[in-house]
Amino acid sequence: MGHKYVYLFSEGNANMRELLGGKGANLAEMTNIGLPVPQGFTITTEACTQYYEDGQKINDDIMAEIMEYVAKMEEINGKKFGDLQNPLLVSVRSGARASMPGMMDTILNLGLNDEVVEAMIKGNDDPKFKRFVYDSYRRFIQMFSDVVMEVGKKYFEQLIDEMKEKKGVKFDIELTADDLKELAAQFKAEYKDKIGEDFPADPKVQLYEAIRAVFRSWDNPRANVYRRDNDIPYSWGTAVNVMPMVFGNLNNNSGTGVAFTRDPATGEKKLMGEFLVNAQGEDVVAGVRTPMPIAQMAEQFPEAFAQFQNVCKTLEDHYRDMQDMEFTVENGKLYMLQTRNGKRTAQAALKIACDLVDEGMIDEKQAVAMIEPRNLDTLLHPQFDADALKAATPIGRGLGASPGAACGKVVFSAEDAKEWKERGEKVVLVRLETSPEDIEGMKASQGILTVRGGMTSHAAVVARGMGTCCVSGCGDIAMDEENKKFTLGGKTYHEGDAISIDGSTGNIYDGLIPTVDATISGYFGRIMDWADKFRVLKVRTNADTPRDAKKARELGAEGIGLCRTEHMFFEPERIAAFRQMICSDTVEEREAALEKILPYQQSDFEKLYEALEGNPVVIRFLDPPLHEFVPTEEKDIEALAKAQGKTVDEIKNIIAGLHEFNPMMGHRGCRLAVTYPEIAAMQTRAVIRAAINVRAAHPDWDLIPEIMIPLVGEVKELKYVKNVVCATADEEIAKAGLKLNYKVGTMIEIPRAALTADEIAKEAEFFSFGTNDLTQMTFGFSRDDAGKFLGAYYDKKIYENDPFAKLDQVGVGKLIKMAAELGRKTRPDITLGICGEHGGDPSSVEFCHRVGLNYVSCSPFRVPIARLAAAQAAIKYGK
Ligand code: PEP
Ligand code: MG
Repeated sequence: MGHKYVYLFSEGNANMRELLGGKGANLAEMTNIGLPVPQGFTITTEACTQYYEDGQKINDDIMAEIMEYVAKMEEINGKKFGDLQNPLLVSVRSGARASMPGMMDTILNLGLNDEVVEAMIKGNDDPKFKRFVYDSYRRFIQMFSDVVMEVGKKYFEQLIDEMKEKKGVKFDIELTADDLKELAAQFKAEYKDKIGEDFPADPKVQLYEAIRAVFRSWDNPRANVYRRDNDIPYSWGTAVNVMPMVFGNLNNNSGTGVAFTRDPATGEKKLMGEFLVNAQGEDVVAGVRTPMPIAQMAEQFPEAFAQFQNVCKTLEDHYRDMQDMEFTVENGKLYMLQTRNGKRTAQAALKIACDLVDEGMIDEKQAVAMIEPRNLDTLLHPQFDADALKAATPIGRGLGASPGAACGKVVFSAEDAKEWKERGEKVVLVRLETSPEDIEGMKASQGILTVRGGMTSHAAVVARGMGTCCVSGCGDIAMDEENKKFTLGGKTYHEGDAISIDGSTGNIYDGLIPTVDATISGYFGRIMDWADKFRVLKVRTNADTPRDAKKARELGAEGIGLCRTEHMFFEPERIAAFRQMICSDTVEEREAALEKILPYQQSDFEKLYEALEGNPVVIRFLDPPLHEFVPTEEKDIEALAKAQGKTVDEIKNIIAGLHEFNPMMGHRGCRLAVTYPEIAAMQTRAVIRAAINVRAAHPDWDLIPEIMIPLVGEVKELKYVKNVVCATADEEIAKAGLKLNYKVGTMIEIPRAALTADEIAKEAEFFSFGTNDLTQMTFGFSRDDAGKFLGAYYDKKIYENDPFAKLDQVGVGKLIKMAAELGRKTRPDITLGICGEHGGDPSSVEFCHRVGLNYVSCSPFRVPIARLAAAQAAIKYGK
């Protein structure tokens, strides 16, 4: 037998998610533990990969295998495709290894055609049944046309609206069986008009096309964006699940719902969900009708509800995690259509993990491993200032669908959100409801407010995944999207007006309410304590100001891995002295200017040492090209000329002389110290004097200054600058008449430094990988300009991620690994860290653990993310 590409649900299990996708593996698992799942089959992710390898075709062998499984499914269910006695209808759904809600395609009610519809009706006199059959048929034509053949939804919606107008009714539900029959005929005509062929009547053709559409949807633009944001490799592919339909829209004794075993917003242990009577699954998720809370289901469907509660318990006990389930009740009987570990807010994730430990369901390691590090970001974002909030009165209220606080200017479309964001505006996106096409606009917004839809609507699910604040389903809003305005609480809001929304309470406020920073406590604190127990990597921060350093300490930073000293030069009094230094003609002039800067630097460093309370502080010497500091405004040039005793033209000539064609590869980093050693000497003095003073005030602190030389590519240039540093430092220490240890190290951010790290380690006591520059110089493209063309690289699948955000482990990573090994060969006790942006990216942190770095350093708000990612890496790979 050839390769197996298709599995019955009864042939799989939960461990096969790579092959069967999450949905397929869980349908198999539910089947195995005896839950009521309509029995179908899963086409593997490998079939998807093969489809792309074969030039977007399902090859004959795979198709034959699928048909073999169609026959098996027909036998198991006692129904047949296209049969006029007992027709089989199926759903065709995507299901990748990692869940990607709403990103790919689904087709329901497949298998219907004119003959099947007639035959179904013939067997049942109930007029409601007739209506149900035609409703299913028109839905299928609509969905197949939209999803499979890409005929826009709007054409069909227009036909529905016309029909409702003709019949003088307001809701779809008021249309009769005959209306729907007529609509089905109109839909088919529309299909023929747009596609040029008849709507396919043969269920097997329908199935083939639907499977192809699901495979194709793996590559749609919104799925590609989602994958990039969520670190899901393109190569994984999606599985396809083919499952016999059960009908929530059969009658009023039927319905469909989605539910979570715990509250996905707060983590509270209670069944949460929504149920729609006489409806199909898409109606709930699309947010078109606002469903009823699941508790009400208990009244209308007591038996099915009791059974469902048992299923929930079984599933939670089995998976030992909060479950997100889709189910249908057909004529009072419960069917499970899906279960997965539910997406949740960061707050809920922490509470659930702690509760599961307390309930004895999992251990601390499992709790740490189950938190998505990137999600923590939302908790670290500002909340409304409590006093300002008390003073504010809500103008309306919706559902608190994704927590956090957001304020900004109102925009009404995803495109506007993107455009306004690019202009530097903070916006709140207000929509009737959102759809997958809105993803990028949602990302660009501070918060999202919708008029329709429940906790599981598209807006709610996607916002939670993104960690963006969202209030959904505020039905009190009178919306006029076309004219870009809405009315709420007696006031009309136009584009650009300010509002604030609270994604926890669902409250909506007029104007901008100030926000305050969040803190780590409660469940967050517990998880972080556990993470710290398991991690091996230390976590430092990149901070240039005492304020940032303090914030980072609060968030758990164990030191400063990078203080970019140039950021200290931009304040008004300092920049004047600094410009004088740049525009000096002689060493004496330059030293005089540096003398003015020294006290500022020294006091900055003292404050940093104070803030770090004896923990390590790495101070990096001046790095950027000097032209970044020179004045551009005429009046500043004049002021500088006056201060320097030079003419304006002389100053302009000096500035012109600093121009470089490639400043990123120009006169910067240690090259500045090689040409102007007095700069390095001044910075050394400031560091050493600051350390001496702070140590005198805190004799118990183990204060060892660490000086870092940037952009080294050759050991001799490091040695030259190091000699300047050591001579100056030793002189200062001798002058003070005491003993003080200090360290001199370097950044590894030029490929040549990585390649010759064994040589460099002879002079450097520590390495810190500057992966921003190392990425730039390894790829050979500019960190400032790459954004302009990376989009084309994503589209063409040349790169899947921004290498400046997520470490390129294959290339740049190879250099890091090699440099770490070479460095340790020369100096076994060398300290190795990373201080590029990657130091706060979870997958990059995992890499740093694997190559044995000592620490990662990242921006203050990413410190908790790095702590958690480091712990997860240690749990996954061992110490
Ligand atoms: C780096 O290059 O990675 C780095 C941390 O330095 P900077 O970003 O200041 O160039
Ligand atoms: Mg750099």
